[in-house]
Amino acid sequence: MIENAPSADAPAPVRTSTLDLIGNTPLVLLKGPSEAAGCEIWGKCEFANPGASVKDRAALWIVRDAERRGELKPGGTVVEGTAGNTGIGIALVANALGYKTVIVMPDNQSKEKMDTLRALGAELVLVPPTKFADPNHFVHTSRRLAEETEGAVWANQFDNVANRKAHIESTAPEIWAQMEGRIDGFTCAAGTGGTIAGTGMGLKAFDDAITVALTDPHGAALYNYYANGELKAEGTSVAEGIGQGRITANLEGAPIDTQFRISDEEGIEWVRRLLSEEGLCLGLSSGINVAGAVALGRALVAQGRAAPRVATILCDTGFRYLSSLYNADWLRAKGLPVFPWLAN
Ligand code: PMP
Repeated sequence: MIENAPSADAPAPVRTSTLDLIGNTPLVLLKGPSEAAGCEIWGKCEFANPGASVKDRAALWIVRDAERRGELKPGGTVVEGTAGNTGIGIALVANALGYKTVIVMPDNQSKEKMDTLRALGAELVLVPPTKFADPNHFVHTSRRLAEETEGAVWANQFDNVANRKAHIESTAPEIWAQMEGRIDGFTCAAGTGGTIAGTGMGLKAFDDAITVALTDPHGAALYNYYANGELKAEGTSVAEGIGQGRITANLEGAPIDTQFRISDEEGIEWVRRLLSEEGLCLGLSSGINVAGAVALGRALVAQGRAAPRVATILCDTGFRYLSSLYNADWLRAKGLPVFPWLAN
């Protein structure tokens, strides 16, 4: 017998629609993080979605919700402003349902994401990276494009609560079932906030004693907001897809019990260790989430909880960041540590 060989005795589910491939992702015990925390740390493998990120779920819920409300009709167009992963999810869902996709994104995002969106058939509109208050910000540009385009809907992932509903209705019940109801803590970072708010709300509905923690990168304002009510950002981060400066509609009422602030260096250290020691190739938001999960696990142990179990989100695949996070020149230019095997 080959150890860890897949067995057809417990076959993976059979699907009759490609859209059914979204969600129901595996949960994996992370060895290094568990040792570091002194308790079990579990990662939800969102890179296993068809679009290789957690955002496939939000894309499916947003598109189906627009159909149900009668706003999206056959042959219609879905327009969104996105750092990339939501666009990839929307493009796949829209292709599967016969809609067109227009994606607006800041031009400082990874080349892989842009190439991927074009490859998937989305029309790509690049805008300069600006502050949210700027009318040319990618979010406002996408709203305007949707208004100006016949038969188009604006996905509006930041303030459309169909986004967090995806996590209330899928991510949370999946984690609860996979952990057989034995879960003490959940944490992840926020981009739109859909994942942390929805998964947090869904898990609390099962068991209010589960500690929900926000893991905030530097350069985001939510750590201070949940710590002392002040929306104030400090520092910077190169992590894509996370780091929020306002309370989006998806974040309203998020049941955040505690919060951690995690640096890019800490996140990169977990990306390095998970790849070199456990064979998982992840993006930086996953590394930051794992650092947050280790902090939460340690905090729960320190509180005296017996053998706590913590879950977090492995948001997307590292293959999406070959020209950035996995590129020595890029890392050096950002003043970040270079993975030893890339250093020469
Ligand atoms: N990680 C990555 C790589 C992402 O693209 C996103 C989505 N912006 C997130 C994390 C955060 O997810 P959410 O929008 O649900 O807060």
